[in-house]
Amino acid sequence: MSKRVTVIGAGTMGNGIAHVFAQAGHQVVMMDRSADALERALATIGKNMDRMVAKERISAADKDAALGRLTTSTDLAAAVGQAELVVEAATENTDLKLKIFADLDAAAPEGCILATNTSSISITKIAAATGRPERVIGMHFMNPVPVMKLVEVIRGYATSDATCQEVMELSAQLGKVPVEVNDYPGFVANRILMPMINEAILTLHEGVAGVEEIDTVMKLGMAHPMGPLQLADFIGLDVCLSILRVLHDGLGLDKYAPCPLLVNMVTAGKLGVKSGEGFYVHTRGSKELVVAPTFSK
Ligand code: NAD
Repeated sequence: MSKRVTVIGAGTMGNGIAHVFAQAGHQVVMMDRSADALERALATIGKNMDRMVAKERISAADKDAALGRLTTSTDLAAAVGQAELVVEAATENTDLKLKIFADLDAAAPEGCILATNTSSISITKIAAATGRPERVIGMHFMNPVPVMKLVEVIRGYATSDATCQEVMELSAQLGKVPVEVNDYPGFVANRILMPMINEAILTLHEGVAGVEEIDTVMKLGMAHPMGPLQLADFIGLDVCLSILRVLHDGLGLDKYAPCPLLVNMVTAGKLGVKSGEGFYVHTRGSKELVVAPTFSK
């Protein structure tokens, strides 16, 4: 069941989403407002597929066929004019997404499913920007998309059973494991992950233990592949803070209040991997874990 799929936003997540749909046999249009972003995304997809060919996960012919099913566009209306499914993965900003969904509703064919990869914005709110809330749904892929198996499928208040079933089936056909959840702040993944990261930062802030000690306890004690402070650096401390604010505002409980140390670090521009420093120092090309000077003994 090959579908015509349009991915809006060609950044970290968008290029991965376009990659997995093209590889699974769908016709994919990747749309971004930036032509540079589209060029970078195509290069990334090519590189990631080369790696899969080298590991013999796919053949060189599979790669060429997948790339042949992938086109790009900077024009939203043209990109979704024939779409059966749209997956939006543009920048995490509520006003931006509401505008994109109003535009998608106007330009996409009647019946086309409009999915969003948002990490934290209410699906119900996004759906309300359209005249087809029963066809709007969350499709929350994990980073890196070609590698991670989970898709959190989030039902908004008005999402229909048929829409949910189609998206569950499509996700499984991509080789993913879809899990159906309801639309409450943080859904399931971030509702559980972000308080754990926040608690790790509070544990550091209160001097219970140092950065390496906290991460080692969680890695070796709980079999996590990465400690929570290292993971926070990878996700981006600004992203962690904004998701915690969504949990705090949306659920109204003090236990979700972001740790003041996290707030300070974001204010100071220490955002983790993307800024070169968070709980650790991140040097391009180096995999060595070096604790940031502020936290080293
Ligand atoms: P990113 O910054 O890497 O990419 C966003 C892209 O959206 C950019 O290329 C930008 O040019 C484009 N864009 C912005 N406005 C646009 C518009 N009006 N029309 C078309 N394109 C537009 O962001 P990302 O990390 O890929 O995140 C995208 C979405 O995925 C967000 O909603 C985020 O919450 C979610 N998400 C991110 C992760 C992650 O680990 N990065 C994980 C799960 C979900």
